Amino acid sequence: MASERQHSPQHSLPSRLSRRSLIGGTAAAVGAAALTATSAGTASAAAKRDVDVAIVGAGLAGLTAARDLVAAGKSVVVLEARDRVGGRVMGLSLPGGGVTEGGGEFIGPTQDRIRALADSLGVATFSTYNSGNNLLYKDGKKTPYATDGILGSVPPIDAAGLANAAIVQATLDDLAKQIPVDAPWTAPKADEWDRQTFESWLRANAVIPSAKFLFDVACTSIFSAEPRELSLLFVLFYIAAAGNAANPGTLERLTETANGAQELRFVGGSQLVPIKLAATLGDRVVLNAPVHTITRSGGTYAVTADGITVNARRVVVALPPPLAARITYDPLLPAARDQLTQRLPMASVGKAIAIYDTPFWRADGLNGQVVSDTGVISSTFDNSPPDASYGALMGFIEADEARKLDAASEAEVRAAVLKDYTTYFGAKAASPTSFVLQRWNNEAYTRGGPVSIAAPGVLTQYGPALRAPVGGIHWAGTETSTYWMGFMDGAVRSGERVAKEVLAVL
Ligand SMILES: Cc1cc2nc3c(=O)[nH]c(=O)nc-3n(C[C@H](O)[C@H](O)[C@H](O)COP(=O)(O)OP(=O)(O)OC[C@H]3O[C@@H](n4cnc5c(N)ncnc54)[C@H](O)[C@@H]3O)c2cc1C
Repeated sequence: MASERQHSPQHSLPSRLSRRSLIGGTAAAVGAAALTATSAGTASAAAKRDVDVAIVGAGLAGLTAARDLVAAGKSVVVLEARDRVGGRVMGLSLPGGGVTEGGGEFIGPTQDRIRALADSLGVATFSTYNSGNNLLYKDGKKTPYATDGILGSVPPIDAAGLANAAIVQATLDDLAKQIPVDAPWTAPKADEWDRQTFESWLRANAVIPSAKFLFDVACTSIFSAEPRELSLLFVLFYIAAAGNAANPGTLERLTETANGAQELRFVGGSQLVPIKLAATLGDRVVLNAPVHTITRSGGTYAVTADGITVNARRVVVALPPPLAARITYDPLLPAARDQLTQRLPMASVGKAIAIYDTPFWRADGLNGQVVSDTGVISSTFDNSPPDASYGALMGFIEADEARKLDAASEAEVRAAVLKDYTTYFGAKAASPTSFVLQRWNNEAYTRGGPVSIAAPGVLTQYGPALRAPVGGIHWAGTETSTYWMGFMDGAVRSGERVAKEVLAVL
């Protein structure tokens, strides 16, 4: 194992790769063999390109759209602000070798499109470590509990709380069934549900404190937002979206590891998917090219980024809505579209991964998954590699806790995180061999995560502007997806949908 050191996600690039190479520093760490500087897009000073479609953003959404448009014979350029592809999917190389995920990581049942994409690129999956007991840390007490008991993996709170929680969960699932995933604002009770926060609804329904605690933790784990920040309609839509056309979404599918959204991980790290996808696009992907303006002139658009202007008949903006709002549009976007993007902020999230010589908690019968009512980390996973050649404990820093730490030094965050890990897993957790931290709130081209969230009144008033094209400008990104909005699968679905939308008019 390498000696311990703090690790910044801003890797230095290996010398054989240029600043504008396709894959950026992380890719070298994850061993994307076929990728070299020769496949790199270059944005030499004041470069110009004329294409059918300019795509803004080389996350999974933008890259998927590009794949489908190229397959249909269209010329495309993908302009990416960062020096790497993948956006919210990001590999962090570890000092001792190996890679772990700083962003999107898990996939699960009904996430068919990310699964199909990964399969097509030869990126294999493995099961998230889930053997042994979960750990509940509540009121200063640790309680291990089985994940395959009669209650599934529901934490062992008091009987009254469990009964209340079961009713609340069933109610949420039932209400979610009334949500049309392509237009939640048209649900029969959309106005009523969009008038209240999830917090106020929980206070009226999760009346036993221990039940309320379970939904509070579920909320921050799913959205990285507090219940008071979310519209009930938005929460119901998110539950409805956690499925596919054949399987209605459920809250359980969002929260579970086995049979849920945390079931599988990608061998070699999730960023291999966008890296390999980008490799198929070659120099159509241009890195270090933040887009500043999109200007219409007659029937074409000039998309201007640092060092390059792309003239295109159609534009796909594959960014989270608040980031799309930072581009200057000429002519102005319709008010409804701009005001929508003013009202869909990113939630607040970070990930802290401590590396150990071994996944020592496994010997104690623990699977590394914690649910806690305290600390900066209230939800953890065992992020060790499939061969367990080292141990990795990953914890989410979410919502209020993330905001509290935005301005803290890495050393301060590390100390707070390791204090929690030691509380949950014992003294060995205090001494990792390395520690990696990814704080999305402080990332220029994401500014939070995992997803944009909607407070009351947003979906019913502005929802229809979410996907509606504006002239030749089309919108993609996971936030525009009908299924698995907020997830990698939603990003891929949105790329596939927007490519069809563009092909229908080109
Ligand atoms: C901490 C965290 C954990 C997560 N966990 C999971 C998980 O376990 N499973 C899961 O499925 N999902 C997870 N997600 C969500 C998932 O990562 C996202 O839903 C998905 O990656 C979004 O893809 P996208 O293409 O829509 O957007 P992005 O990945 O955000 O892509 C947008 C791209 O646009 C670029 N960009 C921004 N502004 C500009 C500009 N002006 N010009 C040019 N380019 C620009 C960005 O750099 C970025 O590359 C997680 C996210 C986070 C942050």
